[in-house]
Amino acid sequence: MDFSPSDTALDYSNRMRAFLREAVLPAEPVYDAWRAQRRGTPREWDTPPVLEELKTEARSRGLWNLFLPDISKLSNLEYAPVAEVSGWSPVIAPEAINCQAPDTGNMEILHMFGTPEQKQRWLAPLLDGEIRSAFAMTEPDVASSDATNVRTSIRLSASGSEYVINGRKWWISGTADPRCVIFIVMGQTDPDAPAHRQQSMVLVPRDTPGVEIKRHLPVFGYQDQHGHSEIEFHDVRVPVSNLLGERGGGFAIAQARLGPGRIHHCMRLIGMAERAIEAMVRRASSRAAFGRTLSEQGVVREQIAQSRLEVEQARLLALKTAWLIDRHGARGARTEIAGIKVVVPRIACAIVDRAIQIHGAGGFSDDFPLAYFYAWARALRMADGPDEVHLGVVAREELKKIE
Ligand SMILES: Cc1cc2nc3c(=O)[nH]c(=O)nc-3n(C[C@H](O)[C@H](O)[C@H](O)COP(=O)(O)OP(=O)(O)OC[C@H]3O[C@@H](n4cnc5c(N)ncnc54)[C@H](O)[C@@H]3O)c2cc1C
Repeated sequence: MDFSPSDTALDYSNRMRAFLREAVLPAEPVYDAWRAQRRGTPREWDTPPVLEELKTEARSRGLWNLFLPDISKLSNLEYAPVAEVSGWSPVIAPEAINCQAPDTGNMEILHMFGTPEQKQRWLAPLLDGEIRSAFAMTEPDVASSDATNVRTSIRLSASGSEYVINGRKWWISGTADPRCVIFIVMGQTDPDAPAHRQQSMVLVPRDTPGVEIKRHLPVFGYQDQHGHSEIEFHDVRVPVSNLLGERGGGFAIAQARLGPGRIHHCMRLIGMAERAIEAMVRRASSRAAFGRTLSEQGVVREQIAQSRLEVEQARLLALKTAWLIDRHGARGARTEIAGIKVVVPRIACAIVDRAIQIHGAGGFSDDFPLAYFYAWARALRMADGPDEVHLGVVAREELKKIE
């Protein structure tokens, strides 16, 4: 296993670092002020112009769509440091380089399973950063960590020319943003088929009659920049050509979607944890209590050291997982993908928690990004599947070893 960066990886990560330092970090207060001014108004979910400026700048620096190996020609191992750097500014940097969830996962499955027409209609503008998309699987009425529970019904119309969708979804990320014009909806087409063949995915344009966005759910009180919404589908009709992949293939597509997506989330969280460590060190070095700076207190030094050791371990596991995906595909790296999805959000939560503590009461406020970082790291112990499901995958593999 060799994790030394290739020349290409070094070049991209250096460019990403420069972009973060020169363009993204200075844009953060502009972005925040723009959004704060519109909070609670009908324009709340519009895109701050500074983000479009950043997108243009990123493209001119060759930092665009790097998540998709077929297009970027970067391996997962080479993309890892770029994603990590983008995690330093998790709200705006990933979108600035068109590598933001949930669009990356959606672009991946459109790329893998889309027909030429679907690719032209939806994938091309997504890759251009002109539109955004959502992935609708989770439902309030069933335990959705088990995708075979999904109950939204997708039925063929009497004429056989359309699918008719009825059901309720929630926590569907991205849909508050008016640019989010296409939803990939998972539902049951074949309730009598074996459990893993009952579901299919259909492409539902946002403006289809019968699509009703009920509300946007906050995460620990934060309204994320693009919302996590509850959506009802009432007799929503789409042409049969909007089926993504094969009928009954929804479960397999969901699995394919989550492999690379999970590791990308983890890489970004490592960047976020690095920023929390930097904040922790700056604060500890600049404040004194009981006659010494905080950084001279043994307890604080231990917290800093502990954070450094944890993030190094997390990064190594993320790189190993990326390396395995490159060699054996997401299927071959299943156990490691499950493992990394547990390890990194937990470590990120712990590190950000320490950073908050070292910042005193300030750490709980919006004067620092730490409270938001904590909310997001904690949410990632649930989004894309709860820890327990991933631990189950790891345990299953371990138990097989003595069979
Ligand atoms: C910020 C955020 C964004 C999200 N974005 C999206 C999105 O864009 N699209 C989408 O479809 N969904 C999204 N989700 C939903 C997320 O994927 C689901 O919440 C998750 O899959 C769990 O499903 P559930 O909420 O129905 O929990 P349930 O399935 O009801 O599980 C509840 C709890 O039961 C326990 N449990 C479940 N299975 C097991 C097991 N096998 N062994 C032991 N214990 C178990 C765990 O403690 C688990 O947390 C998002 C969630 C969050 C928080």
